Amino acid sequence: MAADKSQDLARLLSEMIRINTVSPPGNEKDLAAYIAEILRSNGLEPTIQDLGNNRANIFCEIGEGDECRLILNGHLDVVPAEGEWKHDPFEGRIDGEYLYGRGACDMKAGLACMLQAFIDTAKEESRLKGRLKLFFVTDEETSNLGLRSYISEYGEKDRLSAKRNYALIGEPTDLNVCNSHYGVERYWINVHGVSAHSSKPELGVNAISGAAAIVDSLSGYHKELRSRVTEWGSPSCAVTMIEGGEKQNSIAAHARVFIDRRTVPGEKAEDVKKEVEAWLDERTDLRGCTCDTELYFTFGSGLLPSGNSFLSAIMEEAGQEKAEVFPAGCEQGIMLSAGYEAAVLGPGSIKDAHMPDEKVRVSDLGKAYELYRKIISRILM
Ligand SMILES: [Zn+2]
Repeated sequence: MAADKSQDLARLLSEMIRINTVSPPGNEKDLAAYIAEILRSNGLEPTIQDLGNNRANIFCEIGEGDECRLILNGHLDVVPAEGEWKHDPFEGRIDGEYLYGRGACDMKAGLACMLQAFIDTAKEESRLKGRLKLFFVTDEETSNLGLRSYISEYGEKDRLSAKRNYALIGEPTDLNVCNSHYGVERYWINVHGVSAHSSKPELGVNAISGAAAIVDSLSGYHKELRSRVTEWGSPSCAVTMIEGGEKQNSIAAHARVFIDRRTVPGEKAEDVKKEVEAWLDERTDLRGCTCDTELYFTFGSGLLPSGNSFLSAIMEEAGQEKAEVFPAGCEQGIMLSAGYEAAVLGPGSIKDAHMPDEKVRVSDLGKAYELYRKIISRILM
């Protein structure tokens, strides 16, 4: 039974992979239109929220009542298909037990299983005791334009029309319920030295030496972070880019170091910035340079507290005792801040995401579908 569903879902997933939604530029409206057509052919009435530049969200709701709404959420965009691929990233071909392609696990597999679960639930809509909403967004991988636009236009309406708004985010969790995810704070550290002729380096202060000292020192900071063990694992800090110097024959007056500081639930952006600055100030020998820290990007972590009744219900359906942490960024934090009780649960592994030959196990599609159906019944029937 589940095996049959997996094959149908694999066909649907392949079609979705063939619609290229690499962001930038995204072009997610093409995929939204494809999904809208499937929904319409099943007698449903989807809405496309057009955000311009061929980018769009799509949503569709069935059921009624003001008690609760369950949202099946995912993102339509995928990251670029870089690196050496053995399989065409936009073909969606099955090879052995896996289906390959960009978005195979992150997260068109989740979309396909959610779409099918939604359509099949709609066939028994009269049994629903609340609202079920399919809600796929554009631009998750870059700037969260889709979700933020949706929340500003419809979020308030969602909140007011149901006492509780639950959400399942179908990111690749290997079908384990995750109640939290890491956040990230990214900074440029600008290093300032003093320029001089390169034949007289002692007359200057080399910003590149200062930058090198920072790179060295931050590996100590990373070690310190890894020694902080929380129930969600440890934070981390990595240097991911470095730039510096003005001219081949001048001592560098400027250099900069880019850092990516992953946060665990509970860490606040302002505290993290202070901590990084204190590390540079007190624990780093800048070799005569000065530096300042410039925030480049901030993305908060998320946490749906254990004990939340929605979380307990879905963990029971998944046969899981302890919720896990989703180790990448996702939109759970934004949804939680907007008043949605959101958890992350989907087919495929995060280890295969953003990699060449991204894949999902075909049999996991049927399992994800069945699990979504069980959760829908549990919450809404
Ligand atoms: Zn994703």
